[in-house]
Amino acid sequence: MEPAPPIDLRTPLSKVPGLNKRDIDALALLGIPNVGRLIAHLPLRHESLESESVIASLEPDRLCATRGEISATRVARARGRSPARFEAALEDDSGRLDLVWFNQTYLANRLHPGARVRVQGKTKRRGLGLQMVNPLYEVIPENGGEPALREARVRPIYPLAEGVHQRHIEKALDLVLPAALRLIEDHLPDRYRAERQLPPLAEAYRMIHRPTSDAEVAAAHRRLAYDELLLLQLGVQIRRARLREGLLAPALRADAKVDEHIRRRIPFTLTDAQDRVVKEVATDLSRPTPTNRLIQGDVGSGKTVVAAYAMLMAVASGHQAAMMVPTEILAEQHFDSLSRMLAGSKVTLALLTGATPAAERAATLASLAAGRVDLLVGTHALLTETVRFKSLAVAIIDEQHRFGVHQRARLRAKAEDATSTPHVLVMTATPIPRTLAITIFGDLDVSTIDALPPGRKPVKTSLFGRAQRSLVYEQVKRRLDRGEQAFIVVPAIGEATAGANADEPESGATTAHTLTQELSRPESPLAGFTLATLHGRLPHAERERIMDAYRAGSIHALVATTVIEVGVDIPNATIIAIEDADRFGLAQLHQLRGRVGRGKKPGACMLIADPATQDAAERLNALTSTTDGFKLAETDFLLRGPGDLFGARQSGTMPLKVADLARDLDLLSLARHDAAAWIKRSPTLSSPSEALLVRRLKLAFGEQIDLADVG
Ligand code: ADP
Ligand code: MG
Repeated sequence: MEPAPPIDLRTPLSKVPGLNKRDIDALALLGIPNVGRLIAHLPLRHESLESESVIASLEPDRLCATRGEISATRVARARGRSPARFEAALEDDSGRLDLVWFNQTYLANRLHPGARVRVQGKTKRRGLGLQMVNPLYEVIPENGGEPALREARVRPIYPLAEGVHQRHIEKALDLVLPAALRLIEDHLPDRYRAERQLPPLAEAYRMIHRPTSDAEVAAAHRRLAYDELLLLQLGVQIRRARLREGLLAPALRADAKVDEHIRRRIPFTLTDAQDRVVKEVATDLSRPTPTNRLIQGDVGSGKTVVAAYAMLMAVASGHQAAMMVPTEILAEQHFDSLSRMLAGSKVTLALLTGATPAAERAATLASLAAGRVDLLVGTHALLTETVRFKSLAVAIIDEQHRFGVHQRARLRAKAEDATSTPHVLVMTATPIPRTLAITIFGDLDVSTIDALPPGRKPVKTSLFGRAQRSLVYEQVKRRLDRGEQAFIVVPAIGEATAGANADEPESGATTAHTLTQELSRPESPLAGFTLATLHGRLPHAERERIMDAYRAGSIHALVATTVIEVGVDIPNATIIAIEDADRFGLAQLHQLRGRVGRGKKPGACMLIADPATQDAAERLNALTSTTDGFKLAETDFLLRGPGDLFGARQSGTMPLKVADLARDLDLLSLARHDAAAWIKRSPTLSSPSEALLVRRLKLAFGEQIDLADVG
């Protein structure tokens, strides 16, 4: 027989001596064809196994492990409040330990007197002796020879697939790991690594697969997560540098005169936070490279004025600006408030939504292309092919979390002239924690409006059971009596019907109508007030009429679906009641609550729900305990993980396998900083010593990030 060729990382598993066809097929199910991929198949978690000691030296209230022979067993049926249980006595030469498993009487068929077993669990004092409740157990095979007493160890638990077992992975690793580890090259220089107290890569893989302690697991995780985050940040930052390099944007005038002109139009004094962000934006826009900035600020922090400022900078330099928002209601609102702000000026505005009549639309498009319209406000309708600008310099996306990630690129592409790219600002009320934003939107600069306009009082939030609904409407009545206004929100129930706009789920329309009727009855606390129902299925003109009447104060309470969720700004509305609040997500509830407390009068948010799940209860509690959107976003993120953030709306952006953003935030900022420094030192990563790093970068993120020409 020929000697087996030496193993390398590309060796297919079929060439590894000692693996049989079953092992190979099982691993193939996990997508593991070769040695390298096997090493890269990381454990999901690690389980600690305690070291064994003899029964006599076990202490109470400790997690410990021991072995012995089962000397007696007993099944106790459930009786009264005590559940069924299986009991066994375990003995060794030194003493006896009682074992008990609740609700697992089937163990009587597995653990017979005479069997030798290892057990691990927490000990409790019971009478004179000790007892272990629901221990993990392992039967020691007869005639397999007595295995050695186990040292404390940490056992990796691998992700599996149907028909694949831990032992398949463990066996394969046993066969290849020692040889494979010697072949793993490090892409980080020794000194660089040492400065950050990261273990060598091969050592990290050894420790993740064969840890001797929890500390080793932690060190291995730190290295592998750092690598992943560093590669991601390198990729994102290189792409960003490249995007900016080739492209030109109009450098807008940002002198004192322009600033003064714009500020004269703003009906209030900017807060320090707004002022700082406006300056950051103005500096960006005055440069000949396209701006890409995320402006985050909690609901009500005053983002709109920053958008208006940027748009007017475009006009001051003879260019155009556009603002895209997620709902028609919001588009109309922004259009109205910009119109008021610019009344009497020469600036021309247009509104473009799906509801714009064809003739008007055609006229608007012609004016835009000819440069007769300076500012355009609209919905997704802005993205259609036929919308052309003469000279688009500033594009704004409001409530960016409601849009997909690609809209930004499409809006940017609206500039007619390939040599001129618009500056882009995206605004969000942060359901995205800052650190996460950095990762997803690694190609964005971030500005934060971290204070509310003066005079705001935090919205008081309270939770009521359904039985207490009438109390809620009593409170609403009191506000209406004082001349203030109310929002009453109902969830959309069931599936949105086919053809309905996905952003305005309308199955709540009926519920909203029913509730309006209920609240208008003579016995209702709200009897005598003017109520109206608002939902996305109303004809456009009707909706506009209702919003106008509400804004003017002739409608006192608006019973609405989530069409009012984002952006709607009616400072005289001071109370919001949310029916079936447990059906909304945390971010959504926070947005809804943000509809009130936007003026000087204190706001109130009344949640009506009998939460049925733990999760819903936690969401509602989080909401009542803070009004800080950033904190809520972090909570939401910890409760749900990043999954939803990367769902349909931000699809295809979650590339991390090892790093856990909820846990590895410090590593993320280290990696971000290190990546920036690295690129500064070596902008193209083309030195031969970086070849391995580049190869791994492309392997890991080549598809998500276009990196074809790096290195
Ligand atoms: P959001 O950040 O939620 O988009 P808006 O821009 O709609 O917030 O502003 C919320 C409300 O606060 C609006 O009524 C707006 O006119 C008002 N506002 C914004 N900035 C200030 C300020 N500096 N002083 C007083 N009121 C302000
Ligand atoms: Mg807004």
